[in-house]
Amino acid sequence: MSVSCTQDRCYEFAASLAPAATQFAYTHGIVRYTKDLSRVVPLPMSLSPWRADPQMVKDTREITPVYNRLYARVSAQRDFLAEGLASARKVDPFVARLFDCLPETLPEKPELFINRNDCMPHVEGEEVVPKQVEMNLMAASLGVVSASVNRMHRYLYAETELADQFYVNNAGDDLVDTFVQAWKLIGSRDSVLLWIVDPGEPNIFDMRATETRLVVDHGIPLLRCSLDELGSEGNLQNGDLHFRGRKVAIAYFRIGYAPTHYTTPNCWKARELIEASSAVSVPSVSVQLANMKKFQHILADPATLRRFVDEREARQLERTFVRFARLEDELEWRGQRGKARDLAIAHPDDFVMKPHREGGANNFFGPDMVAQLKTLSVEESEAFILMEMIRQEPFRSIRLVNGQVEDGPCFTELGVFGVYLSAGPGAEPLLNREGGYLLRTKDQANKEGLVLGGFSFMDSVATL
Ligand code: ADP
Ligand code: MG
Repeated sequence: MSVSCTQDRCYEFAASLAPAATQFAYTHGIVRYTKDLSRVVPLPMSLSPWRADPQMVKDTREITPVYNRLYARVSAQRDFLAEGLASARKVDPFVARLFDCLPETLPEKPELFINRNDCMPHVEGEEVVPKQVEMNLMAASLGVVSASVNRMHRYLYAETELADQFYVNNAGDDLVDTFVQAWKLIGSRDSVLLWIVDPGEPNIFDMRATETRLVVDHGIPLLRCSLDELGSEGNLQNGDLHFRGRKVAIAYFRIGYAPTHYTTPNCWKARELIEASSAVSVPSVSVQLANMKKFQHILADPATLRRFVDEREARQLERTFVRFARLEDELEWRGQRGKARDLAIAHPDDFVMKPHREGGANNFFGPDMVAQLKTLSVEESEAFILMEMIRQEPFRSIRLVNGQVEDGPCFTELGVFGVYLSAGPGAEPLLNREGGYLLRTKDQANKEGLVLGGFSFMDSVATL
């Protein structure tokens, strides 16, 4: 073993890996288009793996199927969804429009979730506990490139004492496996797996790797289209969704989580067609609604949580919760009691304010949050929740961003992919497991966490 990674020279070694890492990135597709789609460049990536507390990693993996089951049950209860989002629906046209896509009676059909449970290592005394940032039940991406970053680290560190310390990440294989298993249950010779994508997507390489394997290695017929194309060309025939002469068995969304994705009325029509048809929607509108951040808050109530899971599971889940509040709630914080809004203004570093949105860069932190809290009306405040900030110890990380080696204290976020397949709402799952991970590390000065937004970089996990 030529390099000892417990000393400072480990970091010199990490920085020296930049040229090899760049070549590896191009070879294995750890790349993206630039925003104007004119060039292909490596994704920001770590050159020194995160040294994780093994128990924290184990706990995050084990809790993921429990979250899957919870959201499967929550999304099956339409009244609960309507009640939980009643006020958000009044002030948030996106939430309201999603509800409008639900048909009077939902057709009975199998359920498939492909998701990611994002947690941060929260320091609690001697322990490092995974605290959940959010569950992503829609368009959870970057699994394939994440597995490639892990292979890159294992390759670059093969002659070091870290060689045997990595957590192998098979997120790419797991995703393929999931589609193959789901296809056996749902697919048929005359049907297709439809990927609904953004035609201007810079993160296309992550998808192409999976698509190729599904088509070439497993013979699954696959079409891709935009929301607009499906809305304008799709139609219902005897309860089945047809598109370009083919029956759609599964519609898999890699877009559709943000209002800006619905550029034409046809985009909404696409959602309505899928909901009303036999096509399995990954995710369905009900699942997307259950994924609104407001439900993290609602499910943090002990009695409500126990309506969906047993006592043992409830305790496991509660260990991963931080505090949530509506802006108008009464809250006790650092020995003070008051309105959550006022407490967050007094302690801006302790909270983040989130709208019921997915897709990044929507949250308000620090002074921006205070400015919003001071101006939002009581009615407007219903579109947001306050969440306690998860606290972690910064650690040193070397990374390659836009061709430059950067060094400095960082935080990280471990997202464990989850898969859930059942024959229908309420049925026992045929598949409920974790399937690889995405590790996103970021400079401690950055509040947001998106890789494609330039806030964080791809990383992988090794033990301490
Ligand atoms: P999005 O749907 O935009 O991904 P998230 O809830 O994941 O929303 O928040 C985006 C990022 O903000 C996270 O990746 C994380 O870096 C940071 N963040 C969100 N909530 C918290 C929190 N409670 N504590 C610390 N950081 C947080
Ligand atoms: Mg997120």
